[in-house]
Amino acid sequence: MATEDMLMEHRWQAGDTEPVCCCVCDLPGEPLYSRPPFGVVRCRVCRLVFVSPRLTETALQRLYDQPAYFEGGVYGTQSPRSPAMMLQRAWTTGRLREIGAHRAPPGRLLEIGSGYGLFLTAASDAGWQVRGVELSRTGVEHSRTARQLDVFCGQLAQAPVDPADVVCFWDTLEHVPDPLEFLRQVRLRLAPEGIFALSIPYFSSLPSRILRSKWWTLKPEQHIWHLTPATLQLIAARAGLVITSVLTSPLRFANAGRTDSLVAIGRALPLTHAAGPVETEKGAVQ
Ligand SMILES: [Zn+2]
Repeated sequence: MATEDMLMEHRWQAGDTEPVCCCVCDLPGEPLYSRPPFGVVRCRVCRLVFVSPRLTETALQRLYDQPAYFEGGVYGTQSPRSPAMMLQRAWTTGRLREIGAHRAPPGRLLEIGSGYGLFLTAASDAGWQVRGVELSRTGVEHSRTARQLDVFCGQLAQAPVDPADVVCFWDTLEHVPDPLEFLRQVRLRLAPEGIFALSIPYFSSLPSRILRSKWWTLKPEQHIWHLTPATLQLIAARAGLVITSVLTSPLRFANAGRTDSLVAIGRALPLTHAAGPVETEKGAVQ
């Protein structure tokens, strides 16, 4: 995978990229690492780490539309007994268990970034009424035809605003153009007492701190926001959400074998505690 990623990275030119500002403070970041044509920067106010310059939206869509994006990982043509698929099943089982400890099925579960629909199928088998949102046309087509899943193709903001008891997004938040806006969209879709669950690589993990610009998960073409437990909580609060549990152990099924990723669960803050723009947007949408 590492070699393929490097090759993909080298295909991009400066013309495919654009500079961006911190999604919380609207300020340019200070340089941390250079990976031409990309840069990894940190906001000097809120400490959020992000990629700038990064791929433009058009270039990103080209990347996610490549069938090869999902090949070689845990999707597509992998044998069910391959190590990658066994790991995927451990994560799925563990994550459904973590969710179940906070909110038991039956109920409505929405997965954002549902890929090939593996998790949605498992969640459906576990008793959830499932829906997905996915940007990759290849993933959506597979989910609809091979798995008969209800998956919306496109960005979350364009997807229907139907309430869900559980909203989950696995390894997705680091890919989205604006994670603050994404979390606001998540909040809009949370039913009363609903919870959200996510996994994400984190910048304060041991591999990231030791390997720095050689960290295998840095992947600046696709991972454009690098959070820590602290900056995740900060963005969540700005979106009117609160993280209630964070799990980092690679020994837990939900995070099996992952030394640089975390699984977090949270819920909506009461509206009176939410940042101003959230109340305005919620009012405008409903
Ligand atoms: Zn900032």
